Amino acid sequence: MTINSPTNLITLRGPVPLAHLILGQFLQQGGQAADATCGNGQDTLFLADQVGATGMVWAFDIQEEAISTTVDRLARAGLAGQVKMLHCGHEKISEYVPATLNAVVFNLGYRPGGDRSIITRPETTLAALEKALQLLLPQGILTATVYPGHAGGACEGRMVEAWADRLEPGQWHVWRMGQLNVATDAPYLILVQKGVGK
Ligand code: SAH
Repeated sequence: MTINSPTNLITLRGPVPLAHLILGQFLQQGGQAADATCGNGQDTLFLADQVGATGMVWAFDIQEEAISTTVDRLARAGLAGQVKMLHCGHEKISEYVPATLNAVVFNLGYRPGGDRSIITRPETTLAALEKALQLLLPQGILTATVYPGHAGGACEGRMVEAWADRLEPGQWHVWRMGQLNVATDAPYLILVQKGVGK
């Protein structure tokens, strides 16, 4: 990246660009990644671009509209070839995805512009997070963007944090990152890196 080139500048507004900035360090052409909540496809597109035509991305969502929106966006960007879309719950991730992942992305809550009553739920989120960790390669990374601002979101966030907090520190590097000068219920990022010893 060329420093000071306006076209390459990243705006660190909210956790998603921060997650992408970090994920980009762990992904290269030929890499493998999963998007546990494809929503409108923002993260799926990013991951597909990072791993390139020789890589592979598995993208999950329970909503037909999320799948079709993401499929359209991938096709328009010429990135559909390296993505396997899965119209099913991410709690089934280990049935579809091999344990060779460089990165897994969760973007919780509801799909922007969609049905706000369809949200990620703690029980399935926690099951999926736990399974997703088992699919990471050593030094692989999992990011989860938490949205405490909607009903149920704060509770889900607390449960994700409690889960992450219990991960063995010799084996997992666990972070919570949140912007300071924003509302107290603004979205934030939980990040887990698998250590090399596992
Ligand atoms: N809140 C984010 C977008 C989140 S989209 C933002 O504002 O950018 C979250 C997606 O998770 C939704 O499309 C929803 O359908 C999906 N989802 C909910 N439960 C799921 C599950 N068990 N498995 C996979 N996707 C799920």
